Amino acid sequence: MFSYEEIKTIRKQFPIFKNQNIIYFDNAATTQKPFQVINAITKYYGNFNSNVNRSFHFLGQFSTNCLELSRNKLKAFLNAKYREEIIFTSGTTESINLIACCSYNLLTKYDDIIISHSEHHSNIIPWQVLSQNKNANLKVIPVNSEGELNLIILKKLITKKTKLISISHVTNTFGIINPLKGLIKTAHKYNSLVLIDGSQAISHLTIDVQNLACDFYVFSSHKMYGPPGLGILYGKKQILDKFPPYKCGGGMIEKVTLKKTIFSGLPFKLEAGTPNIAGIIGTNKALNFLGNYSIRKIKTYEKKLLKYAINILSNIKGIKIYYKNSKLTKILSFNLENINYFDLGKLLNNHGIAVRTGKHCAQPIMDYLKLNGTIRISFAIYNTIEEMDIFYNSLMKCLDLVNL
Ligand code: PLP
Repeated sequence: MFSYEEIKTIRKQFPIFKNQNIIYFDNAATTQKPFQVINAITKYYGNFNSNVNRSFHFLGQFSTNCLELSRNKLKAFLNAKYREEIIFTSGTTESINLIACCSYNLLTKYDDIIISHSEHHSNIIPWQVLSQNKNANLKVIPVNSEGELNLIILKKLITKKTKLISISHVTNTFGIINPLKGLIKTAHKYNSLVLIDGSQAISHLTIDVQNLACDFYVFSSHKMYGPPGLGILYGKKQILDKFPPYKCGGGMIEKVTLKKTIFSGLPFKLEAGTPNIAGIIGTNKALNFLGNYSIRKIKTYEKKLLKYAINILSNIKGIKIYYKNSKLTKILSFNLENINYFDLGKLLNNHGIAVRTGKHCAQPIMDYLKLNGTIRISFAIYNTIEEMDIFYNSLMKCLDLVNL
């Protein structure tokens, strides 16, 4: 567990907290960036800017080396088997769209794709579009009254027609950790591929893709202290090898004639065009930052914050917390009787507290639970118990104002 002093030292590495009194509890949307990441990006543009995989001058070689260094580091971070299994995209959204597009030929009429009821729109719409285009069925794993996946129903949904299951590691609405291992085992018995949307798990839970045995694992750098606009797609080599190019252009070919193109192998085949080089360099530094701490320790610390938050908020009259079970991590969603979540979010904002309000890009689950929205607080490594106390006091002041 981190000591108070350790958290203070970590927090000092985030310039956004230096000169302003803000409480940032919107980490599920995006995390703040440490000096290392910001400085590396500035230094890159100021000293080394150039394109990758094209120009053989020293600047070009520097950028290309940085890109491949980041790829190697991501391979180690995820415990992937091969470096070619790491593909750079623009974010989780693009990664899922890439897999959906490349899976087009995997599906035939009346095949099934399975998602859960709790997915982010990014992990719903690409499958909806694909299943409509292929005349396939999109099946949905329901959740129980605690927001957890109903695995008994999953066992009934999955058949030999199931080609792919796409599921979040941690839900972005309620922070529930899904039971992936059992799900992946069941899916593989039916020869179905499994894609894990790791957006809310990355930098909060230890990820070992070989141990999980998932076929794909996707996430965005901006949710793990890195810059926006950079996504990471892990896919098993033997599956990605069979994928057709998802977009076509420079950097992904062996030979082009006006009649025919011979494509490069992995990873370049799936990375057409100039990538987000500064984003990749920033991601490398975010991994360095994370490498200073153990993810297990981060998880324990964030769990402590969450437990503390649940405990103090539970005493408030008229509060409904979604949920309080043991499968939660770093996200707390709630509502208060007689006050609109959006209005409360605005009042908290007046106290310098940043929370997220609304449906959190997950309308299907919110509609199912008959919720117009919730207030969501989400933690990261730099948040503190003191901030949670200030949050509680500010919340009470907001409620006093509403109840005048
Ligand atoms: N999936 C989940 C679970 C998310 O929480 C998010 C973003 O909040 C996304 C996908 C989309 O991520 P991005 O906007 O970085 O592509």
